[in-house]
Amino acid sequence: MAKYRKKPVVIDAIQWTGKNLDECKLFTGDNFYGHVPDLREIIVKTSNGPYVVSANDYIIKGIQGEFYPCKPDIFAATYEAVTPSKPEEYAYKCSVCSRIIMSKKPQMVGELYCHRKPMIQKA
Ligand SMILES: [Zn+2]
Repeated sequence: MAKYRKKPVVIDAIQWTGKNLDECKLFTGDNFYGHVPDLREIIVKTSNGPYVVSANDYIIKGIQGEFYPCKPDIFAATYEAVTPSKPEEYAYKCSVCSRIIMSKKPQMVGELYCHRKPMIQKA
């Protein structure tokens, strides 16, 4: 028997906190089905029909735009947050006055000076 591992697929998801109704409505769009305020539940259309989402459950948008619910403990075990990648910037600091210069490109040692000393690249 062969073994398989899930490919790392990035999905959109939102946690229904019981309070962020507008946010969840916006996220699920036409698939929003209803809200049961007394039970702090919302109902979302999934590929398996309407599904009750309890407070703290996650709503996941799959790669084909389909929605499915996920319990918070399963979500935490299965997914991790993706940090949006930002354009890389390099920071250089003067060891005397702590002035910081940001640069889009890495500088050679000795290209940036402050207080007659080469600025040190900050991690
Ligand atoms: Zn300086």
